[in-house]
This record gives sequence, C-alpha cells and structure tokens, in this order.
Amino acid sequence: MTVNIILLGPPGAGKGTQARRMVEGRGLVQLSTGDMLREAQASGTEMGKLVAQVMKDGKLVTDEIVIGLIREKLENTDAPGFIFDGFPRTLAQADALGSLLDGMGQKVDGVIEMQVDDAALVERISGRYTCGNCGEVYHDTTKPTKVEGVCDVCGSTDLRRRPDDNADSLKTRLLEYYKKTSPLIGYYYAKGDLHPVDGMAEVDDVEAQMETVLKSL
Ligand code: ADP
Ligand code: AMP
Repeated sequence: MTVNIILLGPPGAGKGTQARRMVEGRGLVQLSTGDMLREAQASGTEMGKLVAQVMKDGKLVTDEIVIGLIREKLENTDAPGFIFDGFPRTLAQADALGSLLDGMGQKVDGVIEMQVDDAALVERISGRYTCGNCGEVYHDTTKPTKVEGVCDVCGSTDLRRRPDDNADSLKTRLLEYYKKTSPLIGYYYAKGDLHPVDGMAEVDDVEAQMETVLKSL
C-alpha cells in the first residue's frame, strides 16, 4: 500500500517543517521542488542558472521545468509513498501529477491544506534559516538552534538564509500563491481529497493534526 500526500499552503506555512517530521520513521520520501531547484543552482547546472533570478524575484518557475523534475524523481525512486512539498503549485502541475501517478498505478491519497494567517507568514519567513548540510529548518525566535550557529541535528555550522526570504520577494510569492496556487484548494476539495489543518498551532500540535489525517486515509 502506497500513500501519496500533498502539503498545500502559502510560503512559510510550515510545509517543509512538517514534511521532515512525516518522513521520519515512515520511509516516505519528501519531494520539495524548491529544494530541487536550489540544488540545481548550487551545482551550477544550466537549468539552475536559468531559474535563479525567477526564484530570487519570487515568481513561479515554468510548469515544464518543475514537472520534469518531479517526473524524474518519481521514475527513479522506489518508496512506499511521497510527501509533495511545494508541488503542485498550478492547476497544470496538479493535472500532470495526477497523470504521472496514474501511470504508476497510484494516486494522490490526500491533500493537507495548511492554513496560516498572512501576518504570521511574514514573521515566519523573515526569521527562517536552514541547515545547509541536513536541511533542518529553524527560526530566530520560535525555533533557534540550541547552540548559536550550530545545527542541533547534524552539528554543521553551515546555517543559511534564503535570498528570496526578504520582504519584496515575499510579497511577490504571496501574490503568486493567491493567483496561481490557491485555486488548487477548490480543485482538491471538489475531488474529495482536501484536509484542512490549523497551521497557526504549535509545530507539535500541527504534526498531531496531520497524524489524524494520515490515519483517516
Ligand atoms: P514552508 O516550507 O511552508 O515555506 P517552513 O517549514 O520552512 O515553511 O517554515 C517557515 C518558518 O516558520 C520556519 O522558520 C519554521 O521554523 C517556522 N514554523 C514552521 N511551523 C511553525 C509553527 N507551527 N509555528 C511557528 N513557527 C513555525
Ligand atoms: P519553496 O522552497 O517551495 O518556497 O520554493 C522556492 C521557489 O522555487 C518559489 O518561489 C518558486 O520560484 C520556485 N518553485 C518551487 N516549487 C515550484 C513549483 N512547484 N512551481 C513553480 N515554481 C516553484
């Protein structure tokens, strides 16, 4: 039995934080198109160079590129299920994902909509930093590292802030979200796949809400 879950929500909703927790102990694989695009940039591929400015500005990368990334991962990864984090972000991406999974004899089993107030998103994004080595997600006030400058999980000192985590870019990212991604809420509601959770709650509480959804699938 496979289980494929989409985490849907605006930038800063907590998708990455929760995806990492859902993966632990379940063998599920987290597929974050944002992480894949940042990796492409870090390794200096042509595609990475092509998307760098688009990402910095907070606009969406083309459907063709992100669908290609997801297709490649799905074709080459053997897993009991996937947690899609930051994908799909457009209706075209949602349709493509449905077709790709269909071709594998699988489907989207549930879509978790993480509901967070816009004002909280600004707070979360402006305080976010991540470990460049293991990907653990931190926040200046709500989740700082125990020892300043050192990752709690892997001990790395490579803690990074994203170039697109600034006020200008966030404004564009939110506009992109409401214009192009939020229609997916209605799309998955109509399919009977939507499960809203209160993303304003504490991280552990949000995780517990997600557990409840997973058990219900
Ligand atoms: P997304 O992947 O949706 O963009 P992240 O998981 O990176 O969001 O979280 C954005 C920021 O908010 C991070 O700094 C993270 O530590 C913090 N955060 C995540 N979930 C919560 C929560 N439930 N309450 C408070 N802060 C949170
Ligand atoms: P994220 O890490 O999910 O916040 O994504 C960072 C940036 O990567 C976004 O602002 C977009 O520029 C790009 N991106 C990530 N996922 C997608 C996607 N599914 N479709 C289009 N652009 C994406």
